Amino acid sequence: MRILAIGCHPDDAEFGCFGTLARCVARGDEVYVCGVTNGSGGSMTLAPEEIAAIRVKEAEKAAKVLGAKQYFNLGVDDLTVNSNDPVVTDKLIDVIRQTKPDLIFTQHPDDYMRDHIETSKLAFNASFMATIPNYKTAYPCHETVAAIFYMEPEGISTFHPTEFVDISDTLELKEQALKCHESQYGWLASHTGTDAFGAHRAANIARGKQCGTEAAECFQRCMLAQRMNTYRMLPEGR
Ligand SMILES: [Zn+2]
Repeated sequence: MRILAIGCHPDDAEFGCFGTLARCVARGDEVYVCGVTNGSGGSMTLAPEEIAAIRVKEAEKAAKVLGAKQYFNLGVDDLTVNSNDPVVTDKLIDVIRQTKPDLIFTQHPDDYMRDHIETSKLAFNASFMATIPNYKTAYPCHETVAAIFYMEPEGISTFHPTEFVDISDTLELKEQALKCHESQYGWLASHTGTDAFGAHRAANIARGKQCGTEAAECFQRCMLAQRMNTYRMLPEGR
């Protein structure tokens, strides 16, 4: 299977689905990661272009730790993601047309901030548009309207998980990938006042308890036309 994770900021796919992606790599899937923004807002002290350069490199490193085949970044500045932007939409369409995913992980449409919500819409629109031959971009069209699995957002939203993936054996690798985002340790603590990395580990363990294992990630599948099929796409068992 071919899998594309479309995260908003440079560490979002890592938080939301890297445990699952590690299992996908282990079962032989081709896994690609794409960040929409360059992370330009993620610092209290560095200028936007300085922190952006650091963060894109951190995300590339994390994708390497995962074993992804390629990392893409659309280069949008933080806080400016706009799903109606035709240039960014075409850039994402071309990532989809190059990677030809059967399955896409992305942000939930009811996430906690606008960039995430716009990324969710962008992924939904681009993955449909990528399959329309008469919509011309640099690459030829992709033949599959990819299934979409929304990652768990932060906070309480309309997210209702429909599928769980046991990440007991890949939680450590997920955390190694998260540790590539060195620039964000201090930033997240000072901006949110919480240990975001520890909070995600706790959430993965809590989700594990809900499905009878040590740690899990969960997803809400997009159940709209052309996004469904008759078999389980996510890794099964442990
Ligand atoms: Zn984010």
